[in-house]
Amino acid sequence: MNEIVLDSPLDMHLHLREGDMLKRVAKYSASSFSGAVVMPNLNPPVDSSERLESYKDEILRHCDGEVFEPYMALFFRDSLKESDLIKAKESGALIVKLYPKGATTNSQSGSEEILSSANKRVFEMISEVGLKLSIHGESNGFVLDREDEFLPIYEEIAKNFPKLGVVIEHMSTKNALDSLNKYENLSATITLHHIALSLDDLIGGALNPHHFCKPIIKTPHDRDALLEAALEANKKVCFGSDSAPHYRDKKECANGAAGIFSTPIALPFLAHIFDKHGKVQNLQKFVSDNAREIYGVNPPKKEVRIVKQESPIEAHYDEVVPLCAGKKLDWSIL
Ligand SMILES: [Zn+2]
Repeated sequence: MNEIVLDSPLDMHLHLREGDMLKRVAKYSASSFSGAVVMPNLNPPVDSSERLESYKDEILRHCDGEVFEPYMALFFRDSLKESDLIKAKESGALIVKLYPKGATTNSQSGSEEILSSANKRVFEMISEVGLKLSIHGESNGFVLDREDEFLPIYEEIAKNFPKLGVVIEHMSTKNALDSLNKYENLSATITLHHIALSLDDLIGGALNPHHFCKPIIKTPHDRDALLEAALEANKKVCFGSDSAPHYRDKKECANGAAGIFSTPIALPFLAHIFDKHGKVQNLQKFVSDNAREIYGVNPPKKEVRIVKQESPIEAHYDEVVPLCAGKKLDWSIL
């Protein structure tokens, strides 16, 4: 096969930032994808329907008139009322995103005790309103164990709120995949970097700060398990890039920021991987059909053509260094 036409590809986990960075990166999502779930961890977070509406307007202003639906995310607070959730849904929210306090960029005002009674009250309301609870699931333990240590919490929520759709965001371990398959109401997003890279690509040779993200990329064993779930287009998983741009000087320094930028090359890179494993026929499901099913969305119609033609990954896109800069892909996006 030398050409793939994707029908309305979706990125179900994206960071577009705001201001100057948003202006630089929004076009890459708008030209490649039909829609994306835009995360709310700005400073201050997107935690009200007013903030959500103005952020959505700001995003659309930078989409160069492309067909592109920003599916919005409301920042989880234990003070949320049912009326807040209803308003957020009316303003375009698809998920409520819960961050453990301090787990990643701009999550200082995240939740300290995930299973507190105040949080559980909000989980119940999210379920009633028909939004999804999306979680950056990491403990504050040893860096390689953080996701696995959080899995009992995902399971506890899934078990106690059987009508609540719970999303394991940027799933990064084989054990998480095992938890996912135990509960009907759990689903997961999988990034490109967690199926393409292992720790060796971050620290195995020279340190590559552009491959540093949270959750951190893990062992080849974890990578291969996630890769298989993606290649088989397991119905409970869908693509979410977690593309998270930072300016170069914020990555190449002491205290380098966490986040991998992948949007401009995400689709040709996925085509490259799926083709290499003889699974091109499953790419449409992984990048669109599964998400439609899981989230109940009907994205705007958009055809994206990817052709088998070598293309290099640029050293930077608008001053942001991407994943695997300099590598050659067998596929290009038209
Ligand atoms: Zn993220």
